[in-house]
Amino acid sequence: MPGRTKKKLPPSKSFEKIKGQFYFGDEPSQMRTIASKTKELRELPLMVSIKDFYGRERKKESLKKQGMLQMLKSETLMLGLDSGAFAAYGRDVSFDVAETADIYRAANLRPQDFVINLDEPTKPTTPPDLAREKVENSIKNYNFLRDQLAGVTVAPVIQGWSKRLMKRSLATVAPDAKIVCFPSYLYLLAKSKGYEREALKRRVIKHFREVITMIHKDPDLAEEVRIHSLGVGSPEIAAALWGAGVEQLDSAKWRVLAGFGKVCFAFDEDESDPKVRRGTTAIPVAGKPGSWGYRKWQPWHDTMLKNCECPVCIGLDLNERKTALGFGEHSGKTTARCIHNLFQYKKERDVAREKISQGTFHDFLLRKRLRRGSLAHQIYKTLTEPHFQQLTVDQFFKQRR
Ligand SMILES: [Zn+2]
Repeated sequence: MPGRTKKKLPPSKSFEKIKGQFYFGDEPSQMRTIASKTKELRELPLMVSIKDFYGRERKKESLKKQGMLQMLKSETLMLGLDSGAFAAYGRDVSFDVAETADIYRAANLRPQDFVINLDEPTKPTTPPDLAREKVENSIKNYNFLRDQLAGVTVAPVIQGWSKRLMKRSLATVAPDAKIVCFPSYLYLLAKSKGYEREALKRRVIKHFREVITMIHKDPDLAEEVRIHSLGVGSPEIAAALWGAGVEQLDSAKWRVLAGFGKVCFAFDEDESDPKVRRGTTAIPVAGKPGSWGYRKWQPWHDTMLKNCECPVCIGLDLNERKTALGFGEHSGKTTARCIHNLFQYKKERDVAREKISQGTFHDFLLRKRLRRGSLAHQIYKTLTEPHFQQLTVDQFFKQRR
């Protein structure tokens, strides 16, 4: 088979292989609030959107003086910056790539940090001509940012639904790229229902498979290139993707859930109560009933809350914990729920990384985490089934170590 020999690049010292990396994303001001509460959360890998810096001269000046890390009051070893293009997608906002370059430069990043290209998002319903144009614009922006930002890792995004457009996107990725991103498109599922949702789900899973295979098989990419799936909300889908060889992801869902009055739990591995669902869960406890969702608080959630060691819960009794998290309140306490949820997501990430390093992740996923028939289970099954070319998690990490 032609083209399977990979170019060997010298191993990078600052970019050691990272297994199951999770960037906890949000806007700078919110991350700063959270980071100021506890040292542990200050050290989490962060993915921060720069969308609030566009057109704001004073904010840009302040960023230039401090650098992004100091602005966030963070000490994280891993920082990623997102252009904010996706957050503004569909609204009448346009970003200028020169300004993106200025903001990224002002952030004063370190060698291990990275920025994401100012890409122009496409979706299944984007007309082909427009999709092609968006992909070409994204490529232009990628080349521009690489040119302007010497010493900064610029991560390209593989845009497009059709294989042809994805190939075009991938062909322009520099051979020394350290990270290649692709959109997860999971947000599309949240907006669809019934038959449409089922069809879309199959298509989204197929897309995962196509884009991951394509990146893996690309002979021009360095062996140490990392794959990053953008905007993966739940820890279960994160785990499914880690299991399938996607090294890193980002999520701000813990914060969105907190905003909707929900608290999250990652289940303990030794959970013996058969009523307890696998994986993770989010239960509405505050806010408007319309946004509450269907899961009700159950007696075992009391046990989980009692066991929580997050900075909000620790040292409080059960009722104090409930008050601190805003149980039954209509508004407020969002930051407390953010911290609690973030801590639970982090716990789940830590478990995954431990299992990956022990070589027991596959078994753990199927036995403890992925509910049969759930979206995460379907994604994992499709990405790891025998006739699919994707490597198993063990093969994957051995081959790419
Ligand atoms: Zn807690």
